Amino acid sequence: MNINSPVTDIKGIGSSKAGALSRLGIFTVGDLLNHFPKAYQNRGAVTTVSEAAMKIRLTGEASPSALILTVGTDAVSTTVKKGIVLTKFKAFDESGVCDITFFNQGYLKDTFRKGTTFRFWCRPTFDYGRLQLSSPAYEMCIPGKKLDSIVPVYPLTRGISQKLITALIKEAMKYAISPEEHLPADVLVKNGICSLQYAIKNIHFPESLEALYSARKRFEFDRTFCTATALAMKGEARNSNAPAMLGADITPILSALPFTLTNAQARAVSEISADMSHTRQMRRILCGDVGSGKTAVAAVAAYIAVSKGYQCALMVPTEILAKQHYAELAPIFARLGYKTALLTGSLKPSDKKRLQSDIGRLDDPPMLVIGTHALITDNVTFRNLGLIITDEQHRFGANQRAALSEKSQSAHTLVMSATPIPRTLSLVYFGDLDRSVLDELPPGRLKVGTFTVDESYRARLNGFIRKQAQEGHRTYVVCPAIEESEPVADDPDNIYDIDFSAQENSEPPLKGAIEYAAKLSAALPELRIGFVHGKLKTVEKDAVMSDFAEGRLDVLVSTTVIEVGVNVPEATLMVVENAERFGLSQLHQLRGRVGRGRAKSYCILVSDTKNEVSKKRLDIMCKLSDGYLIAEEDLKMRGPGDFFANGGIIRQSGASVIHSSEDTDGKLWESAIDAAKALIDSDPSLSDTKYRRLHQIVTELLKGSENTIS
Ligand code: ADP
Ligand code: MG
Repeated sequence: MNINSPVTDIKGIGSSKAGALSRLGIFTVGDLLNHFPKAYQNRGAVTTVSEAAMKIRLTGEASPSALILTVGTDAVSTTVKKGIVLTKFKAFDESGVCDITFFNQGYLKDTFRKGTTFRFWCRPTFDYGRLQLSSPAYEMCIPGKKLDSIVPVYPLTRGISQKLITALIKEAMKYAISPEEHLPADVLVKNGICSLQYAIKNIHFPESLEALYSARKRFEFDRTFCTATALAMKGEARNSNAPAMLGADITPILSALPFTLTNAQARAVSEISADMSHTRQMRRILCGDVGSGKTAVAAVAAYIAVSKGYQCALMVPTEILAKQHYAELAPIFARLGYKTALLTGSLKPSDKKRLQSDIGRLDDPPMLVIGTHALITDNVTFRNLGLIITDEQHRFGANQRAALSEKSQSAHTLVMSATPIPRTLSLVYFGDLDRSVLDELPPGRLKVGTFTVDESYRARLNGFIRKQAQEGHRTYVVCPAIEESEPVADDPDNIYDIDFSAQENSEPPLKGAIEYAAKLSAALPELRIGFVHGKLKTVEKDAVMSDFAEGRLDVLVSTTVIEVGVNVPEATLMVVENAERFGLSQLHQLRGRVGRGRAKSYCILVSDTKNEVSKKRLDIMCKLSDGYLIAEEDLKMRGPGDFFANGGIIRQSGASVIHSSEDTDGKLWESAIDAAKALIDSDPSLSDTKYRRLHQIVTELLKGSENTIS
């Protein structure tokens, strides 16, 4: 038997157990070793009967505890009702006596004989004047045999108990005596990373807490390192069938724009045009804060493509934004002699059909096509697509990004965002995306004052909203939900990754836009207040938004549908309710809705959170005003996530164990990425025999995932 043997080779594993294990993705002995615990119990910290009883009396409950107890009365099993068997006995330590009860495990009466000692584990309760243990986990104490102090808790499935999976993994461990190490020796030493063998042993059965941390660190590093190595290798082999658009003359578009490019815009343009003049596919992100003028850069890039005879697709997340871009760009391109088309989901089917066939037409097709994701989800065949631009890229879901990159096998790609999501941003670090930065705003912009307040400020906050209105300014209020306490995901326009770390039970309940608008109207009857959310029809939404944009409303209460969209320079106040529920990048995007006119603007983050991580995020918002820095903080706090469909190097069934939350300063994965880049620089195809195993793992990662990265 070895690592690759099927689990059925293990004694006692027949086809039904094997079937159950397969639901956990476990087929071989090696798979067992990759089935990581999802949690651990620290059974080494033993409490006593009297301590546990005292704790419950003082605080109302006890946390799960380990107790070492001797059985004081032989266990007795009785059928109390049809189908219910209770097995009961008393057990004691030097501090006192407690009752222990098991349900429907009648056979246990033979296990718990008077005088034997066990270590029990459960959350005790206090009833009938005594401490009670109900169906605790138990291990017999045998003199001379030490019990593990840290006990793994595995993800389970029907038919597989904690006891069984633990025993199976213990068995599998015998065949992991010397697993082949795939991390290069110098990388291990330089980064203080433990060996694979030590890590496997201690992720399952840690010798100590330190050993557990060191194993977790190893796998976290390992995953990032292998991902980065794979991406770096892939980058080396980037598609080289893209059209080379050499020597484009951009003077016509520059003079057609209503302003002169800022230095930062000009620099981005030259980086982009250099990329587009090669057959090596451009994969570039244009990062520039809200209002930094990314559209103009996109227009120049689009012009390079169309002037060289290639079509350009400009994809945006919302219909409103598509219309806005179309209104801005179509006249400019028309003057320069190029047709623009607008393709959105709400076109009449017949119009859509006609437009779709126009786009693929040989003779005089529209050269610039602006649209929502209808551009990728529908059957659009371009005649010769040379450039794909994605605006507000952070608003697209993973599937949409994947579908787009599938369409763009050999087209140059440019994505734009003020606040790239962690995954996109880490592609920059991984070296799979090049980056241009607009680090300069067009002249005359003011910084938005940002503050965090709690519920006790409610009256003052309402007063502030009234004051804005009296001065002729307008206020946005954003709530995380449409109706009170409704999950955020129900808002169909909200496709942003919500920060799950903030969704602890301890967080305050969600405020809903509808009730909020009603309450605010009651508090401020003289103001004109409207509300908008993703479940309204597009025409209804548009109507309320234009009421706000054109000054017929003082306050717009909404869900995050307004995150991208209308430009209202008179809006000077952004109030975000339940601010703890939003990701940093999203908060920054919301804040970007104000500060677009001449008057000083404010962003008030309302939160009653007690969660330290949430508080830290809100602090960051008050301190930082640069979207890119904020996105970087987001990345550090949330980690880069999984890159490959097949789950990465370690399959990590107990996935929650290994994630970046412990690496809050992001140093660990930065060094993993640096190490991977250095390795690929020195040996681009990992041909040295000492990288045999690593090469194998990386090849496996890249298999079938060419299109899943964007
Ligand atoms: P974003 O980067 O958020 O997409 P936009 O492209 O919408 O920003 O530009 C924001 C505003 O700045 C627009 O009104 C645009 O016309 C203006 N703008 C862009 N570039 C310049 C520039 N170089 N000089 C002056 N105004 C500019
Ligand atoms: Mg924009």
